[in-house]
Amino acid sequence: MTARSVRVYIGLGSNLGDRLGHLREAVARLARTPGLAVTRTSRVYETAPVGPPQPDYLNAVVEVITALDPKSVLELAQRIEDEMGRERGERWGPRVIDIDVLLHGTARIDEPGLTVPHPRMHERAFVLVPLLELEADPVLPGGRSLGDVRLEAIGRSDVRLFAPALPIPPGATGSNARPRAGNDRRVGRARATEGERC
Ligand code: AMP
Repeated sequence: MTARSVRVYIGLGSNLGDRLGHLREAVARLARTPGLAVTRTSRVYETAPVGPPQPDYLNAVVEVITALDPKSVLELAQRIEDEMGRERGERWGPRVIDIDVLLHGTARIDEPGLTVPHPRMHERAFVLVPLLELEADPVLPGGRSLGDVRLEAIGRSDVRLFAPALPIPPGATGSNARPRAGNDRRVGRARATEGERC
């Protein structure tokens, strides 16, 4: 990883023909692309479709290290979609392969044709479940973290901050220091290792 290179997460989906073969092919094509190094892949999940009635999807997430900017990564992804015979028809319709740029380092981009973090990723289990195997604390749309999303849900319960952390008597072992915000990245690594078992 050079000083300028970043970790990019790419979402893959397929719900037509040899779905698993298509996901494998997309990974192989990404790995062959100059300027991209595929470093890790999630397990593959079968998921119910969003949108019009259509077959179930297979989804996975791929981690890539690259110095290419987000727009270039999207263009490469779209070229692979085209080469693999993706026909651009109905929005959210069935497809041989769908390749989305989910995250590009900590970049936040909102321009015509490219939004990063991917705007709907935090609402979609078929994105988050495989992504969390690789990245325990992803940046989500609106600058939110997974912890924020969880806290929003928890925050709807009637729990109010009342006092700082309780003091620990002198001489006792331990600490009442606040835990680090966010998840330890090592958790992600451990999960990925677990993922490699199947
Ligand atoms: P889809 O049907 O999901 O493949 O959507 C493709 C459209 O979404 C294209 O017009 C892209 O330019 C646009 N788009 C915007 N942001 C992204 C992103 N982060 N990854 C992939 N496509 C994106």
